Amino acid sequence: MAIETRIPSVSRIQLPDLNPDYGLELLRLDVLHPAISGNKWYKLRYNLEEAIRQGASSLLSFGGAWSNHLHALAFAGQQAGLSTIGYVRGEAVMNPTLRDCADWGMQLHFVSRETYRHKQEVDFLQELQQTHPGAYLIPEGGSNALGLKGCREILPENLASQYDLIACAVGTGTTLAGIAQTLEPGPSLLGFTVMKQGEYLNETLQALIPHARWRLETRFHGGGFGKIQAALHDFMQEFYLLNQVETDRVYTAKMLFGLREMIRQEALDPNLRILAIHTGGLQGNRSL
Ligand SMILES: *Cc1c(COP(=O)(O)O)cnc(C)c1O
Repeated sequence: MAIETRIPSVSRIQLPDLNPDYGLELLRLDVLHPAISGNKWYKLRYNLEEAIRQGASSLLSFGGAWSNHLHALAFAGQQAGLSTIGYVRGEAVMNPTLRDCADWGMQLHFVSRETYRHKQEVDFLQELQQTHPGAYLIPEGGSNALGLKGCREILPENLASQYDLIACAVGTGTTLAGIAQTLEPGPSLLGFTVMKQGEYLNETLQALIPHARWRLETRFHGGGFGKIQAALHDFMQEFYLLNQVETDRVYTAKMLFGLREMIRQEALDPNLRILAIHTGGLQGNRSL
């Protein structure tokens, strides 16, 4: 598949209101591609290959109105010559994310929050398959086995071995699991959940990660998925001024905010060599 992506870079960053000696490093998946930034490309690439191998005529998936996943899918589908179908949670709206999706040819179907809840149920998926013959179905966020396989390529071993701790944001946990699966032996992982009550993911991840050098930090959801409180907003601005790196409000900013709080609370050893992962998703900042 001919989508040209750039190689992620690593840069030294500082966190606002910490001693500047206390640096950490950031793996910049946000620089991969202007339209399919961050971890979503890793989750999609093998799904795309598989859809093509199966001779599918379209790609169908699910997401919210600001979904980075649907945005990446719409672009990738267009590049691959496959039509795309997006099931969007909630009442019909138009925003810059969905505008891009539509411009790249995605057929948008808005469904109520109630209906959207069935998105993983067999009956519902069979019904969709009948409505859209030839569609290759991808779960929300690209969180299937092929998505996981792609996430194993995010962090090369020679890079991982230079750190004690890898930090990333957690939505479905696929990214964290994919990275963790490649780190045996290797550094520990700390995942920051971005929704309320992210604890349930512990069980999902235990089944996927074959070692115990990881844990979830669930305190920094900042009011819930997609919610942005004033402290986080200020943090994003200060972070940008310090580093000239833009972060997304839903994921990476919450992870970095959480890291900063933990360092301040001395919950993390100041001598740890930390690599934080910028998982991209900047297109969603157009909601700010
Ligand atoms: C989807 C997404 C995540 C979460 O990835 P999971 O694999 O679902 O945990 C993190 N960061 C960004 C920017 C995303 O778009």
